[in-house]
Amino acid sequence: MPVDLFFPVWYTGGMIITVTEIFRSIQGETTTAGHPSVFVRCTGCNLDCTYCDTRYAREGGTPMEIEAVLAEIEGHAPFDHVTITGGEPLIQAGSIQLAKEILERGWRCQVETNGSILIKDLPEQARKIVDVKTPSSGEDDSFEMRNLKYMTDRDEIKFVISNAVDYEFSKDFIAKYLTKKGTVINFSPAAGAIPARELAERILDDRLPVRLNLQLHRIIFGPEQRGR
Ligand code: SF4
Repeated sequence: MPVDLFFPVWYTGGMIITVTEIFRSIQGETTTAGHPSVFVRCTGCNLDCTYCDTRYAREGGTPMEIEAVLAEIEGHAPFDHVTITGGEPLIQAGSIQLAKEILERGWRCQVETNGSILIKDLPEQARKIVDVKTPSSGEDDSFEMRNLKYMTDRDEIKFVISNAVDYEFSKDFIAKYLTKKGTVINFSPAAGAIPARELAERILDDRLPVRLNLQLHRIIFGPEQRGR
């Protein structure tokens, strides 16, 4: 079910965010694919997708002051792009604050979210990459429909597709809700589940207004390594 509650953690020194890792890599997905980015992987998630490839980020992590996260990001300079990812960043109120601070420092900010939590408190200038979970995830009732109202042409939707059922689900969703939006729509073949070529051929045959979203970072670094 959709969740629109944050679980803020505060203490007297300032806002805290629990982080699994901060690293520099090549953005592997969406229209910024290929662009170097500093990644902040937030800990925890409110969903449990069957194909989750970041289970290590669901628990543990290091509670950090936002200022400390920013200092660590700064240590990767020069760069101009920061990606806030997870887990699910929006279960922590600190992710909103972090996005604002990143933008205030003049860096571009991309936030990757699973789509189940309202995005309305994120700054408009942040590029939101919003998943719509498909049936093979086991979480296909999780999408927060109100998010469509808050998405701008800067933002992007992403469907991870494992099979024909996921494909038809995504196609139906586009026909019902996305035909009048200018939002970029990404179709990602789930790793090891459906060949990219098969998905590409379906997209071409159906003349769908979507982009094939390959995980460039996996092609470059493999499934285990994330970057530098
Ligand atoms: S939303 Fe993302 S991090 Fe959470 S379980 Fe699904 S794939 Fe994993």
